Amino acid sequence: MSEDRTFVILLGPPASGKGTQAARLREHMELPHIASGDLFRYNLKNETTLGLQAKAYMDRGELVPDDITIAMVLDRLEQPDTHQGAILDGFPRTITQAEALDRALAEQGDKVTRVLNIQVPDEVLVERVTGRRICKNCGATYHVTFNPPEEEGVCDVCGGELYQRPDDNEETVRNRIRVYREQTAPLIAYYNEKGVLEEIDGDQSIDEVTEELKAAVADL
Ligand code: ADP
Ligand code: ADP
Ligand code: ZN
Repeated sequence: MSEDRTFVILLGPPASGKGTQAARLREHMELPHIASGDLFRYNLKNETTLGLQAKAYMDRGELVPDDITIAMVLDRLEQPDTHQGAILDGFPRTITQAEALDRALAEQGDKVTRVLNIQVPDEVLVERVTGRRICKNCGATYHVTFNPPEEEGVCDVCGGELYQRPDDNEETVRNRIRVYREQTAPLIAYYNEKGVLEEIDGDQSIDEVTEELKAAVADL
């Protein structure tokens, strides 16, 4: 019997639905969900050195430098809950990060199992970002129109208070989309050459996207 660990990467522009879908896939695949943006926000909230280093980049919608990001995510991947693998959301975002991940996994006899490329048109992304709301307490994600909580401003899961990320404004998101096209989109060809890429139509309802994603990992 194979004991290979499963590493699934969710690739896609800002607000394409990676976090929303990862929360669902996590239950379905019984793998931990590791989101680099969440790790940065956690560090920021706790005012760690790492969080303070990342803040200025995040506020501008630029990528945090590779060395900082790689060290943070590889450290997270050493936690025991990843013994069967993980769902990675928002990492890697550059070729340098992808190569570092490949090397780290290879050292353990592992590799990236599948990359799910969630495609969404730019105008839809702007609408999604500006209506996004996040639970301060548990990180659950909502949308004021497309996925509203039962009670305005309150998390369905834990009752926590919802907030809007400071970088979720139209100007910053346009920059984040540009950064995605320039620095992250080259990963599509990188993983396609390795034969692990699957295209997902992210411009459907949340449930429809989940179904397409589940079908794309059904053989794992
Ligand atoms: P990402 O993690 O890729 O940045 P999120 O999962 O946070 O994206 O989703 C961005 C916003 O869009 C959130 O407010 C979320 O509720 C909403 N959203 C996610 N998927 C869909 C969808 N398929 N249709 C409409 N809105 C969506
Ligand atoms: P989104 O949900 O909109 O895709 P994230 O929460 O993934 O955004 O990321 C928020 C910010 O955190 C990014 O704009 C960037 O500054 C930083 N960040 C997250 N992941 C990475 C990464 N892999 N490399 C560099 N910076 C990152
Ligand atoms: Zn909550």
